[in-house]
Amino acid sequence: MKKIIIVHTGGTISMLENKETGEVNTTNEHPLSNIPYNFGEDIFIDEHMEFSLPSPHITPKHMLILAQKVEELLLEYDGVVITHGTDTLEETAYFLDLVLDSEKPVILTGAMRSSNEIGSDALYNLISSIRVVQSPDAYSKGVLVVMNDEIHSAINVTKTSTSNIATFQSPQYGPIGIITKESIIFHHQLVTRTTYPVTTITKNVPLLKAYAGMDSNILELICKGNPDGIVLEGLGQGNLPKDVMPAIKKILANNIPIVLVSRSFRGTVQPTYAYEGGGKQLKELGVIFTNGLTGPKARLKLMIALENNFDITVIREIFENDY
Ligand code: ASP
Repeated sequence: MKKIIIVHTGGTISMLENKETGEVNTTNEHPLSNIPYNFGEDIFIDEHMEFSLPSPHITPKHMLILAQKVEELLLEYDGVVITHGTDTLEETAYFLDLVLDSEKPVILTGAMRSSNEIGSDALYNLISSIRVVQSPDAYSKGVLVVMNDEIHSAINVTKTSTSNIATFQSPQYGPIGIITKESIIFHHQLVTRTTYPVTTITKNVPLLKAYAGMDSNILELICKGNPDGIVLEGLGQGNLPKDVMPAIKKILANNIPIVLVSRSFRGTVQPTYAYEGGGKQLKELGVIFTNGLTGPKARLKLMIALENNFDITVIREIFENDY
């Protein structure tokens, strides 16, 4: 018999719509407790309420508490399904993927429409997630996100639409599996996965998006907050406006790591352009390049790397060689 536990953290999947005002808000009892679905006799499902938070209120410290809870639960259970608000779901999923060293399935799911809204995807996504966590094929796949009949790996998935139920997509490589009425089908697998366990989350790592006409001022302001590292969402293949360069050089001279991602949602940053602020110059100066991570995910990874006291060579390696 498989022992599965559902861990609730909040979000729309844990909320109900007020039919008079149309507002969506949290409830005392989870609206999806006692699921009306037959998963077969071979499964025992438990439930645990860790948080009851809208996901914009989730911080990396909550993610660490959740990771520690999941680690503890995995000693007793065969798999964990986490319900979570969709706004920051991909960040929590990736944080868990970075720190949890287990082959057992850990799945995050959410909903774009609360349980009593017309066309709700809440119960459907929860049932799909439990079906996936039951599957022997879900082992050793890293942390997964199950939404809208698709299975995504935490590293690639992102929320692409504010309200469409098909919001979660993996723009770079597509989902790694699909869910049909009959089956759970995995058709891809991650090439590598490395974990970096942490016991604290203390580092200050701001994330900043580049834009046309950007200059050094905003980075200088950020430096007044003593960052431990900075993630920049550069332009295209990883370029910055030239007026940002004085601040970049100063930050690097102070040994503060700068990690570069692209603000384009597909592709990776590359040292292609040699002009002032171009990727080639950034790389030569010591900026760390990534392999298609989004800015929020690169930020979590840098926080975790710094928490592990990795030196700059190791940080560069884990960003440039991990996929
Ligand atoms: N704002 C909500 C949240 O992330 C959206 C959702 O759950 O779908 O908590």
